[in-house]
Amino acid sequence: MGFKSHSKEYVRRAILRSRILDLAGRFAAPGAAILMYHSVREDPRDFADLIGPGITHAASAFRRQMEIIAREFAPVALEDVLRFVGGQGSLPRRAVAVTFDDGFADNLEVAEPILSHFGIPGAFYATVDLIGTPKPPWYSRLRYSFLTTRKPEWTSASDGRVWSLNDRAAREAALLAAFDLCAPLVAARQERAIHDIEAALDAKFQPDGHRFMMDWEQVRQLRARGHVVGSHTLTHPNVAYVADEADLRNELTESKKRIEAELGLEVLHFSYPHPSLNPQWSERTIKMTASAGYKSAVTTTHGLVSAGANPLCLKRLSAPRREDRFRWELGRAFLGR
Ligand SMILES: [Zn+2]
Repeated sequence: MGFKSHSKEYVRRAILRSRILDLAGRFAAPGAAILMYHSVREDPRDFADLIGPGITHAASAFRRQMEIIAREFAPVALEDVLRFVGGQGSLPRRAVAVTFDDGFADNLEVAEPILSHFGIPGAFYATVDLIGTPKPPWYSRLRYSFLTTRKPEWTSASDGRVWSLNDRAAREAALLAAFDLCAPLVAARQERAIHDIEAALDAKFQPDGHRFMMDWEQVRQLRARGHVVGSHTLTHPNVAYVADEADLRNELTESKKRIEAELGLEVLHFSYPHPSLNPQWSERTIKMTASAGYKSAVTTTHGLVSAGANPLCLKRLSAPRREDRFRWELGRAFLGR
């Protein structure tokens, strides 16, 4: 066999192979990945004791990840995923939607221009009581207090347990206990609990003119650039642990109404905060998000979204921070799809 016919044979086989793979993909159950991000900063080391590296992506890594989605996957809007889930539309193979929780100002300032560059639609869920305020999220305030305090120990108000703050590991453990203590609390009671811990540890974060969260004008800009804006509650509790029904309803409906009043459009999408404690949703919260008027709700439960999934309880994938891990995990999630 001469070189020419050999290479022809090679090409023929390659085409056949790709057709078989394509066919296999069509018969496999399709699915969508909803990626979850929080903060995207030029330098993630800035404010590391406040926001935390666990939820911060470097802008350079985020840019590479969006490039991977645009080139190797199929970026889709949240609404496309919902039509697919409801049986009203199909999705391209390896469909990926991109979402952001909490409402950090860097979402508009750093992440959005990158999304725009690659033509990727986003969904942004804001913690409504923080919009336009100098306050970082309560979990960030606690993180700062526990990591920077000079006190040797902390006594939990819930059970009187004394937590050593001797080293980094001990501080992290005490911080998790404080998260559990505050996660069921909303509004003024939450603020009081955070304030008491800041006072006990004599370490309160001072924004000094820095604003971490979006203001309303920035939220409006996200919408004007074609992205989805949704609610992440008013005060970021674990809503499954909010005992008082009126408090829970308030977190769901007031946050929705406030965004609607500011943006002049209907808010249909919700993201469950998950500061700590498990689970973060229940049959009760699903019913209440439905009666509040939401059409979709995303969780932090790991997995792809399949056709027929409950739109008020959608799984997501937490976006890894490193590029190699990002490609590997996303590829693995779609294995056989
Ligand atoms: Zn959150």
